[in-house]
Amino acid sequence: MSDASHLTFDLAKPGVSRGHLVVPRGADCEALSLPVYCLNKGEGPRLLITGGCHGDELEGPIVARRLVEWLPEAQTCGRIIIVPVLNPPAVQAWSRNTPVDGLNLNRVFPGCADGSVTERIADAVSRLLLPMADTVFDLHSFGPTWDLPPASATHPIADPDLMAKTIRMAEAFKLPITLVWEHSDTPGMFDVLVQSQGKVFVCAELGGGTVSAKALAIYEAGVRNALIALGLVEGKAECLSFREQKYSQTLETLLSDELKSPARGIFEPRCSVLDEVEQGDLIGKLHPMESVSAGSIDVRAPTTSTVCAIRSGAHVDADEVVAFLARPLKL
Ligand SMILES: [Zn+2]
Repeated sequence: MSDASHLTFDLAKPGVSRGHLVVPRGADCEALSLPVYCLNKGEGPRLLITGGCHGDELEGPIVARRLVEWLPEAQTCGRIIIVPVLNPPAVQAWSRNTPVDGLNLNRVFPGCADGSVTERIADAVSRLLLPMADTVFDLHSFGPTWDLPPASATHPIADPDLMAKTIRMAEAFKLPITLVWEHSDTPGMFDVLVQSQGKVFVCAELGGGTVSAKALAIYEAGVRNALIALGLVEGKAECLSFREQKYSQTLETLLSDELKSPARGIFEPRCSVLDEVEQGDLIGKLHPMESVSAGSIDVRAPTTSTVCAIRSGAHVDADEVVAFLARPLKL
């Protein structure tokens, strides 16, 4: 390894400054320079906004760049550090994982200074940027083969105070869904690291599919609402309508709410996100494509619930998740 990771500029400088987070080169690739914007208006909340953790979720980097355009005028206090793209090799390849080492950046935190490139990125972010913030907004989306309403999400947190604080922050986005999402695969996630330091972390999950102007507008309004709630920006929160609905709801989805494909084949959705379903209602159909004798298989709702996310016409393996159901969060 050559140099240590470093920032090319001083985050304490007042006003708007920009520079790079340099991730040193290693055996697998050259050094990376991640553009970083710092908007420093003195005392107040300290926020880190990141996008492009997963390379096929491009709404986050776009919204992050939009913030850089209007925040210098709108921000009234505090410090906001914005990194539109955490994982440049993955974004350039439009790939969820880093193509160089095949790793998922959101599973290697806190990273490793002399690890592979994904681990080096995580290490640089953990050591140089995270200590500079008390709150983190990580801008994701659900990827091209899913449909999900714009959502602000958190996983369940063991500390009840931090959980309540995090839900309040997530609800402040006023996106169509605030989601408490039970996950089976949490080691190495960025939020787990941030929360272990007692800090608030909200993951914004824009819907799936391709990037659309309407969805970006909802997403950007959501982030602005959260900035207003934090006191970093003045103004009135606004709740944009999503598919005719103009309200937000707080839901939880458990591991048992994951509907899995009964076989390998093409999944056809038969309902839409935010649909209310009863036990036995048809969620979708799985069409096995490799046999002329295999019939299509119904995927049905096991309980009364809300359809939170659904695969939008993807080829899936047996046991792969094709839908997430949810219900109102009970605190
Ligand atoms: Zn993601």
